[in-house]
Amino acid sequence: MKKKDTVLLLGVISILLLVSVQLFIIKGIWQQKDEMFILRYTLRSQEALKYMSRRMAGDGFDTVRYILRSYSVKANKDIHAIRDPRALEDKKKEILEFFTGVVNREQDLADMLASYFERRGFDNKFQITIAVNSLEMIDQDTIIVFRSQDFINRLSQERGGKSPSSEMSKSKILVNWFVMEDNNYRFAFAYYIDFTDKQKQLLKETSIYFGLSIFSILVVIVIFIVTYRNLREEKRLSDLKTDFINNMTHELKTPLSTITVAGKTLEMEQIRNNEEKILETAKLIGKQSIHLNQLINMILEISMWERTQFQLDKKTVDIEEVLNDIIDAFRSGCGNCAAINRKYSFNGARVDLDVIYFTTMVNNLLSNAVKYSEKPPEITIEGFMANDSATISVSDNGIGISRNDQKHVFDKFYRASTGNIHKFKGLGLGLYYVKKIAEAHGGSVSVSSRPGKGSTFTINLPH
Ligand code: ADP
Repeated sequence: MKKKDTVLLLGVISILLLVSVQLFIIKGIWQQKDEMFILRYTLRSQEALKYMSRRMAGDGFDTVRYILRSYSVKANKDIHAIRDPRALEDKKKEILEFFTGVVNREQDLADMLASYFERRGFDNKFQITIAVNSLEMIDQDTIIVFRSQDFINRLSQERGGKSPSSEMSKSKILVNWFVMEDNNYRFAFAYYIDFTDKQKQLLKETSIYFGLSIFSILVVIVIFIVTYRNLREEKRLSDLKTDFINNMTHELKTPLSTITVAGKTLEMEQIRNNEEKILETAKLIGKQSIHLNQLINMILEISMWERTQFQLDKKTVDIEEVLNDIIDAFRSGCGNCAAINRKYSFNGARVDLDVIYFTTMVNNLLSNAVKYSEKPPEITIEGFMANDSATISVSDNGIGISRNDQKHVFDKFYRASTGNIHKFKGLGLGLYYVKKIAEAHGGSVSVSSRPGKGSTFTINLPH
């Protein structure tokens, strides 16, 4: 696996780890807040009960007691008269349903608790649940109508067994266990309250932790993305440098080996007698030395730019005249190597330019248009003045540049990766030069291209 991919994988794993740790912590906080909420309201409701027993006459079940008293007398009679066990079971069910219904409908404790909470500014929106524990009908003998599992467990606990804690009390708040009894019945039940917007309250209390953890996760993700991008950029630059060194070695070697061969040729006996050959070889050496010199100067100049802003020697010139001169010189220099189509008209506009740098810039575009072409090159140069700026574009019918390469062609040392890179010689500095020069004039350069169809480079220079 590549180093880049390993870093990506490690980053993703650590972010996932961070997210799960945060979730674990938040879950813990939520549970703790939930428990605290339950504890708080358990204490508050017990205080409320104490307050009511001190201050008020009833406990909220007066109506319930009243109804059950008369009902239980009759129920007792009925139940004792039944012999059939099935009918007895049905009767027990009916009695239990009646008791449960009455205690749910007729109790006033919910209202009393709600107004007590409201007076103290606590939450007072809750639902009640009444869990019946046991119901016994008492006459000469006692008939057990119902015993809940909880009640049975408690009995066994009293006898030494272990009781599982009540399921219901985990999520609901137990206000109290009540036992209601008179001569005819004994009715025991648990009274629970459940706050309807508890989740909302808990969310409010934990939102700060939520916010902080989401924020920290986001920060880590952003840091990771920035670091990863930097790493990729570093890698790209180091690849570019390696390519540059390879290309430069290649570029320098060609004129050097020509010079070496020419030197060897001059040493040969039969050449020394042939003046024409000597002259030809000397010219070759001279030409290659100039090329070598140009290459070295270009590299030196670029490294100079890195250290200092390069100085322009601007003059106000007729841009059309300058362009004509550059194109004429280029054509004669390359021996009519391309069909050049001039479609520019600046109406005699005068622009502030450093003519030498401007010439280099246009020359680089022209020589690329010739170099990156597999057909006989056709170049069109357009130009006009618009909005106080001069626009010059150089279009060719060459190999074109892929969309991805278009983003990088102006980077230092960048050479498009399509095809054989050594087929077209170069150091990846020409367009970098163009961009630097355009920017030094306060202008810009852009490219549009379709692979296989050709490219257009457009320079914009302020007036
Ligand atoms: P060099 O020509 O030395 O490689 P440049 O900076 O001039 O460096 O160009 C960078 C890259 O842009 C080239 O390697 C080439 O792939 C691409 N390129 C530049 N000009 C053209 C063009 N006119 N047509 C197609 N590709 C081009």
